[in-house]
Amino acid sequence: MIHYKSSEEVQKIRESADILGRAHGEVAKNIREGVKTSFLDKIAEEFIRDHGAVPSFKGYNGFPASLCISVNEVVVHGFPSEYELKDGDIISVDCGVFHQGFHSDSAYTYPVGEVSPSVLALLKATRDSLYLGIEQAISGNRVGDIGHAIQKFVEAKGYTVVRELVGHGLGKSLHEGPEVPNYGKKGSGPLLKEGMVIAIEPMINLGTRNIVQERDGWTIRTADRKPSAHYEHTVAIFEDRTEVLTTHKYIEENIKF
Ligand code: MG
Ligand code: MG
Repeated sequence: MIHYKSSEEVQKIRESADILGRAHGEVAKNIREGVKTSFLDKIAEEFIRDHGAVPSFKGYNGFPASLCISVNEVVVHGFPSEYELKDGDIISVDCGVFHQGFHSDSAYTYPVGEVSPSVLALLKATRDSLYLGIEQAISGNRVGDIGHAIQKFVEAKGYTVVRELVGHGLGKSLHEGPEVPNYGKKGSGPLLKEGMVIAIEPMINLGTRNIVQERDGWTIRTADRKPSAHYEHTVAIFEDRTEVLTTHKYIEENIKF
């Protein structure tokens, strides 16, 4: 079900997204070799709670943490753990904030130390594809236009698009309609209209697009164990413009690649 937001509701999501953006920035400062991923989770949770908000993911369908931490071949929904980051890893940090009754959701994949050029290129292409998707997320377009733009761009570079996991509407619930696939046909799917708030989140693989779920019931990894990248923004659609509510600027102040 699609819930259209009033401008007052979008304002609440904007404020939630601001806390989220700054929480990501705190995490970014601590991404380096030797850091345990559980430490990153602690930093994010403390920052969010210190700002009067609640981590959206903690307890969501039983999820145990504030961050989804997905390293290398893990696509999404990995658990923070005692694993220590090592040189050459990539790490996706996905976080949600619940504030004043509204959720925001955003993710970023970081290189740790010296990452191989082919994997770095995957990260850049996935990040670029997010912005190409956002460009299509305008009033009057359809949801399929977003996925089409992402898919066309990354497949031209030889990468593959995960099908089973998609972006989503969000607001009072972390996941609302519509589903926002990262693949699709131009002009297909629900109409994008003022008041829609959606999370766009390409999950792009270096090898096969096929995924498997680990026995923990959450962790999704690539079937061939090749790396996967994931970037996400929450955006609000207005009649005459689209606003990216979440931000990676506090991340990119700390890390540039
Ligand atoms: Mg997310
Ligand atoms: Mg999401």
